[in-house]
Amino acid sequence: MVLDITQATKHLDTYSKKDGLSIQQLIDSTNFGGLTYNDFLVLPGLINFPASAVKLDCKLTKKITLKAPFVSSPMDTVTEENMAIHMALLGGIGIIHHNCTADEQAEMVRKVKKYENGFISDPVVVSPSCTVGEVKALKENLGFTSFPVTENGKVGGKLVGIITSRDVQFHDDNSSKVSEVMTTDLIVGKEGIDLSEGNALLRSSKKGKLPIVDADYNLVSLISLTDLQKNQSYPDASKSYHSKQLLCGAAIGTIDADKERLVKLVEVGLDVVVIDSSNGSSIFQINMIKWIKEKFPDLQVIAGNVVTREQAALLIEAGADALRIGMGSGSICITQEVMACGRPQGTAVYNVAEFANQFGVPCIADGGISNIGHITKALALGASAVMMGGLLAGTSETPGEYFFSDGKRLKSYRGMGSIDAMQQTKTNANASTSRYFSEADKVLVAQGVSGSVVDKGSITKFVPYLFNGLQHSFQDIGIQSSAELREKVDSGDVRFEFRTASAQFEGGVSGLHNYEKRLHN
Ligand code: IMP
Repeated sequence: MVLDITQATKHLDTYSKKDGLSIQQLIDSTNFGGLTYNDFLVLPGLINFPASAVKLDCKLTKKITLKAPFVSSPMDTVTEENMAIHMALLGGIGIIHHNCTADEQAEMVRKVKKYENGFISDPVVVSPSCTVGEVKALKENLGFTSFPVTENGKVGGKLVGIITSRDVQFHDDNSSKVSEVMTTDLIVGKEGIDLSEGNALLRSSKKGKLPIVDADYNLVSLISLTDLQKNQSYPDASKSYHSKQLLCGAAIGTIDADKERLVKLVEVGLDVVVIDSSNGSSIFQINMIKWIKEKFPDLQVIAGNVVTREQAALLIEAGADALRIGMGSGSICITQEVMACGRPQGTAVYNVAEFANQFGVPCIADGGISNIGHITKALALGASAVMMGGLLAGTSETPGEYFFSDGKRLKSYRGMGSIDAMQQTKTNANASTSRYFSEADKVLVAQGVSGSVVDKGSITKFVPYLFNGLQHSFQDIGIQSSAELREKVDSGDVRFEFRTASAQFEGGVSGLHNYEKRLHN
């Protein structure tokens, strides 16, 4: 008998169970082995909205909400101020690494907090006693043509002039002082003006640069016409509610010196601290959380790393505002191999997040995110956001220079537990990557490797690619927001499928003689 086609959806009710697996069934199906992101898929749902309607707002911590669930790792080849500024502009957040002195780290945080889109907060400045020859050399090396001149040659010094290419171009005596040739008839903006006012002033002055000064005529920042022309707007930027400054995170360790480090970071406006331990369930971390909560009750604390409910419970009880999940899943990580400790990331995310979410503690899935699908899966398993190292490494906002090898443009990417990174910590007495060794260690035991990754261009293109890709992924599942995903995974409406090894093979590219894998335009 052929059934009536108009009754097809109704006919589904005659089946005793839904197609695919609920999250619980998926997890139970791997009871004798952990689950990784590649082991499963999410089944498609009904599309009745455009991908652009998908909202990806998420909770980073109890008190911080982001428009995009993206966090950059506190690693010295991933997050310094440039990455943190751009992650925040694009709706995520960057966590500045601590393999440097406390002052260096605080300076990076300060730059993020002081950043205003379109305003250059650390312009190259010269002093009146510089020579024309030195200015010509600066122009040659940096490619800019004008420099503000302050009494002490630094940002913050009293502004006395501006030196432009017109001032030095036809001036043959390279030994002349800047003070003799600079332009002193200045048009300036007052500190506090917004970008559109600055823009209008710049255009009416017909100059290329507008110095911004405080009430005492000290140089605060600079607006440049060329930058304005390139300027993008960032409507989703992550900002503090009150100050409207970009949000910034930073990592610290768990030794006493880290308390002094944190004081300096808080002084420059840190919003969220990550306590950076490979195994977060230690008495040192518990004590550190309690100390921070007492000393800085408004500072949000991300504790970790953890991979079990038992570890999570200790940190939640100590006062953690979010948890970072992952041990051994990082792309540069050899922890599971060397320490025999860790957990497959899918299982870790599900178990910890399922537990922590009951206490209103958001979770960040850290490590092993190597494509957009992994982000969707981490969120489906209960994480609120993902932390990425390798996926962002190689972008132009990461620290370090590009180099060429085998005809490819590359950048370094290394684990913080690699011998390279740990040796840098040991030789820099004020660095604090105690994540992987203790002071007393005579022999360093590596838990990470160091290598290189291919140039990925700027994150101003790469993060929007992740964002749009994630919107499309949610659309395929028939889900319009992270909150709805949570709800429908928990209710069993979003369904999963386990992937055998041959299913994984089937899901990849096969049978081609050669191909190019371009991920975005
Ligand atoms: P990825 O995104 O897969 O590259 O993983 C990045 C994450 O790996 C970081 O956020 C850390 O949690 C972790 N990690 C960083 N350095 C090391 C290391 O040397 N060994 C093990 N894990 C590391």
